[in-house]
Amino acid sequence: MFRFSTLSLPGALILAGLLAPSAHGQAAASLPERAVRRDIPMTNAIRRAHAAGTRDSTGRPGRNYWQLRTDYSIRVSLDPATSRLSGQESVVIHNTSPDTLRQIGLRLDPNIFLGNTPQAAPWVPSEITDGMVVSRMSVDGRNVNLTPSRPGGGPQQAPPSEPRATGLNTTVARVALSNPIPPHGRATLEVDWSFKVPGGPGVGHRMTMRWADTLYQPTQWYPRVAVYDDLRGWDPELYLGPSEFYNNFGRFDVRIDVPAGWIVSGTGVLQNPQEVLTPAARARLATVLNTDSVVTIVGPDEVGPGSATAAGDRLTWHFVADTVNDFAWATAKQFVWQSLRATIPTKGPVPIHMVYLPDRAQFFRDAGRISRHALEFYSKLWFPYQFPQLTLQDGPSAGMEYPMVINSNRGAADHETAHQWWPMVVSNNETWYGWMDEGFNQYMNILSAADAGSRAPVLDNLGQSYGRVSGSEAEAPMMWNANYAGPQFYGFTTYSKTPLMLSMLGGIVGDSAVQRAHSEWGKAWLFKHPSPWDWMFFMQKALGRDLGWFWYYWLFTTESVDGSIQDVRTAGIRTTVTVRQGGQMPSPVVLKVRFAASGPAIRPMQNAQMTDSVTAIVTWPVDVWFAGSRTFAAHLMFGARKIEQITLDPQCRFPDSDPSDNVWPRQPARANGDTPAQRPVACGS
Ligand SMILES: [Zn+2]
Repeated sequence: MFRFSTLSLPGALILAGLLAPSAHGQAAASLPERAVRRDIPMTNAIRRAHAAGTRDSTGRPGRNYWQLRTDYSIRVSLDPATSRLSGQESVVIHNTSPDTLRQIGLRLDPNIFLGNTPQAAPWVPSEITDGMVVSRMSVDGRNVNLTPSRPGGGPQQAPPSEPRATGLNTTVARVALSNPIPPHGRATLEVDWSFKVPGGPGVGHRMTMRWADTLYQPTQWYPRVAVYDDLRGWDPELYLGPSEFYNNFGRFDVRIDVPAGWIVSGTGVLQNPQEVLTPAARARLATVLNTDSVVTIVGPDEVGPGSATAAGDRLTWHFVADTVNDFAWATAKQFVWQSLRATIPTKGPVPIHMVYLPDRAQFFRDAGRISRHALEFYSKLWFPYQFPQLTLQDGPSAGMEYPMVINSNRGAADHETAHQWWPMVVSNNETWYGWMDEGFNQYMNILSAADAGSRAPVLDNLGQSYGRVSGSEAEAPMMWNANYAGPQFYGFTTYSKTPLMLSMLGGIVGDSAVQRAHSEWGKAWLFKHPSPWDWMFFMQKALGRDLGWFWYYWLFTTESVDGSIQDVRTAGIRTTVTVRQGGQMPSPVVLKVRFAASGPAIRPMQNAQMTDSVTAIVTWPVDVWFAGSRTFAAHLMFGARKIEQITLDPQCRFPDSDPSDNVWPRQPARANGDTPAQRPVACGS
């Protein structure tokens, strides 16, 4: 999903910088002034996973890693007169776990439109509907009781005499099984259902899925089998609105029945173009991979059966996707359909399709080219695009991602295309840890925008800016369940904070090292479900650093560094810089030292690098803080050349509420007669 306000800095928090650290630490001389935590907190769930060997401290899938596979066959029919979808689906659930499954968890997201289900978002459903209406269900041919007097199927209970479903009026339902699914066994769940596609003037992604009776964008539109994993068993999380999904991988075979003349797009590859497209459209499609131009498959003047599509009364569009974690589609009475190619390294050309209403062509004029750049750039940055096509769909939802499908015009084309890496291939639990797809996404969008503009990405300053946010009691740590991150900070925690964290990490190990390690991590988890711990362990191993302290403060707390230069004294050839860290988060000490243009020779220092003839960058590792002092005496031994200026954290990578005290001599306030030396020091070494 895309959010326009990516960095919200509540104004009152700026005041936090005025609260200078007190001197009370000196009172208890035997206690450290600051206790720095250096390990990664482990929950019971991740401890159990390590003990079982499903995950381990390499951060790769463990030797006993498993995940469920769910293969869907769905037939769905759209009736524009009632805006209703009617479906029959069959899901083969492969129990690859070592556990006996006594229940099946079902996700019924459309029940959020009932209006009486819990919601965490200000964007209320635009239309109250009857939600997901389940009319029949069976497991391995045995009918499921949809209105049982007792639920049954608890872990301590004997299996019920018949399968029973409960919670069908919520977003998370359960089917208690009369015949539990043994380890490595499988079961077939069949469901007949219907769902009124919600319309209306509503705001917000995923809350309006149609424009009147002319365009439909069904998403989360069919009963989905919940994830059962090694960390939490059946995923119990409600769909509350803001937080997104956690879905199993599997094959989708979907047949979509619509009036003839309506064009259908969706996840997967169209299996029957000869039945639903005109010969002209098929001929144009055949040229897409041979040209860099945008090819019009169905133009604005081609409308109705026999012109936009094959002739007839109704047509069934058949799509298949081999390994995906969801399926989305769109259809409209009058779509313009255009296509172009992207060239994926090691793979070759794949088509990008765009379907949009004729009077909205302006929003799609360069959307395909933006997505092409994104597919090609991210393929080089992380790993090659994994899917056979990408489709941009027009409609009221214009900033949402599904496998091979983005509901987006040019506005969010780069961001939503980026989601094809996470969570569509590296499939995290978005409900809990949205930062693992939205936050990584915001970071890569910075790199993509710079590449598209042929300039270097600017990652300086981001890490430091977190110091102006840190300290609010309303901010949940990133390791808190994002469903409950609260309306004020959900966007910051899920979207904006990760690039700040990765900016600091790049300030320690280098940005290209961060990107290489992250790419390796992605390749280790293709089409799997990594946890944040897997990422932390993998990254620190790949980077060859003990980063326990870094993960702890960034992911489990809302603390900052708040560094400052307290004092600078020169005695002979030694200059001592007293650096203080007022916050709880430690960081390496990085000083930029600027010398006078002439004078005695500048002697080399082992931990210093000259960046030009009068500038040195001097670094001390984070370890200097681990003994517990809040101050560190940094000794500069450059000889007798006069030092004109010293800057702490010159790349502005470490969270700091007040960077003005990072420069020595202190910068005077701007005044008349301002000289270059008095201007605030810009970030960058
Ligand atoms: Zn997003």
